[in-house]
Amino acid sequence: MTEPSGGMGAPPFDAIADQPLVARFLSTALQAGTVHHAYLFAGPLGSGKTEAAGALARALLCGKGGCGACDECIRVRHLTHPDYHVIEPLGAAGYLVEQVAELVHDVGLTPMRGRYKVYLVTRADLLRGATANALLKTLEEPSGKAVFILLARTIESVLPTLASRCQVLPFRSLPEDEAVAGIVAATGVDAAAARIALAATGGSKSRAEAFARSSARREARAAVIETLSRLDRADDLDVLESVRDLFVLLKQPLDAVKLEQQAKMESHKGVLGKGALKQLEERHKRELTSRERETIGEAFDIMRSWLRDILLVRLGRGESVVNVDFSHHACRLAPSVSEAGVVRCLMAIDQAQEQIQYNVRQELALEAALFSIREQLQS
Ligand SMILES: [Zn+2]
Repeated sequence: MTEPSGGMGAPPFDAIADQPLVARFLSTALQAGTVHHAYLFAGPLGSGKTEAAGALARALLCGKGGCGACDECIRVRHLTHPDYHVIEPLGAAGYLVEQVAELVHDVGLTPMRGRYKVYLVTRADLLRGATANALLKTLEEPSGKAVFILLARTIESVLPTLASRCQVLPFRSLPEDEAVAGIVAATGVDAAAARIALAATGGSKSRAEAFARSSARREARAAVIETLSRLDRADDLDVLESVRDLFVLLKQPLDAVKLEQQAKMESHKGVLGKGALKQLEERHKRELTSRERETIGEAFDIMRSWLRDILLVRLGRGESVVNVDFSHHACRLAPSVSEAGVVRCLMAIDQAQEQIQYNVRQELALEAALFSIREQLQS
């Protein structure tokens, strides 16, 4: 962005400079007082939908239009604002009916701190049947205080009855070069490390930035690739042991999250009532569950990216590999595995991820994937 920040009404949407049309649309609506009661932000992973939702929530809940510095804005950022609710699916296959019922009940209550209550539904595509119906009634009767922000990768993935009640804002997908430049600017890592971070997080720029900043996550990534690289020489026991070791490393970054949560609980103890503290504790539990899911997802994304590197080497495009720090392993293994074999490895990863969605234990699913990959690397 060439324009300096700090212009009229600009600050809340600085966070989504990657999406200039969306930023302009939302700031115009805020200035004109024509904020809609329900938005559907539709765009690919990494296009900044969650950041945009946070920016809109700050703009609505902050007394100064989303200054980014006041108590309201900080609470929104830390997800501790009582009028900003982020609703993640708690069931393995989607939202629970109780979750939506709780939300609908909350919509009827008066905002605790300001004029609005903002609800962020992170996976609107998973609202089906009973959960969709429960929310539909609420979306049909704007309360004047509640603002809904629904997120989805595509408009088509959301039930038409829900989508038609929302103002739809399309988010463009960010070209890789732009995302890499953004990560470099935000974190100070070099372009190669930014590409690695992007690949490790499935192409999400905001998650890639967090990855680039976390030494524990970078260390876990190295261990994932090293484990894969050794598979061609691994026996059964090696595979089982490496899965066990990997999980120790993969869970390490979660310790930081737990510590952060404990500190947050401590700092709120004197301030919040018993009910609110209980709610915060519940939120922390959910956050941890979803971070656990993200962590294993990240391991799978790293595996995919490294297997694609092997494919690139096989196709004579070694200069394009993402995991440059491990390209020697990709070069060593490339001659011994066929292209079809790499595809089978990628399918084994998809299958493992699917199994986890159906509540197969993460360790078991990863073990099965590693055994399948080993079969291809040793054949
Ligand atoms: Zn503020």
